[in-house]
Amino acid sequence: MVVYTHKDVLRESIRSEKDSGGCIGFVPTMGALHEGHLSLVRKALKENDLVVVSIFVNPTQFDNQQDLEKYPRIHEADKRLLESLNGRILLFIPEASELYGDKVEAKRYYFDGLEHQMEGAHRKGHFDGVGTVLSLFFTIVEADRAYFGEKDYQQLQIVKKLTEKYSIPVKIIGCPIVREDNGLAMSSRNKRLSPEAFEKASFIYKTLSEAKQKFKSESITSLKEFVKEQFLQHDLLKLEYFEVANERTLVPAVYKRSDNRYRAFIAVHCEEVRLIDNIALY
Ligand code: AMP
Repeated sequence: MVVYTHKDVLRESIRSEKDSGGCIGFVPTMGALHEGHLSLVRKALKENDLVVVSIFVNPTQFDNQQDLEKYPRIHEADKRLLESLNGRILLFIPEASELYGDKVEAKRYYFDGLEHQMEGAHRKGHFDGVGTVLSLFFTIVEADRAYFGEKDYQQLQIVKKLTEKYSIPVKIIGCPIVREDNGLAMSSRNKRLSPEAFEKASFIYKTLSEAKQKFKSESITSLKEFVKEQFLQHDLLKLEYFEVANERTLVPAVYKRSDNRYRAFIAVHCEEVRLIDNIALY
């Protein structure tokens, strides 16, 4: 598999595919690939003639320097995993300067308020970084379809908003969350957990599933109390937030309305690793 590091060379290959009538799928990632990523790539391979996978740990979307430095980088293993899919894949691994030029900084974005909730409130500037890097990628890749996981549900909604607002001609496709056997949502950050923490972190999905059951009969306030208490009893897991929000606007809800659909969102710290997850409440 050829690894592209220069955007112009990548662009040439993409153009020649498009000139001969091919469709381009795009899967942006930060690497340390797992089955969650591969599910996106498999879907992209099914629906397109050629798939571009990018690996780039985007510095402008991190508000925590340690998290950025400790993010796993294992390009050779990633490449082997992609090769095992036996598809037409172009792997793009740029340096920051190749994407950003001299100034590695984020632009400011307004996503009609989606950016203020949950991850936006807890990771300052995060979605400015996401918006900036994806705008750069979309200009280079010119994909017909781009694939994002519901694991980062808020990001998925924000990317849809970005492409609508800026009329970027790419169809955004959401893909379901892939989980470990114990229920923990797959994440590159899971590689930083000890075996004990990995097992204990299954409590996050267990609690989300219980919350889903309780949502049918209980108020949102008592649901939030329930989740808080569950985590107080847990020594290894520290709850950062638990929210029940309107699935479309992402505005946290206080009361249930029968014409709205809701989702629960959670962020938890485990051995200094920050884990997020979410679940549909319908
Ligand atoms: P990341 O490398 O974490 O930035 O993720 C790249 C893409 O893979 C994003 O669209 C994520 O939402 C998606 N993704 C990450 N983990 C999972 C998972 N467990 N299930 C489905 N999609 C995922």
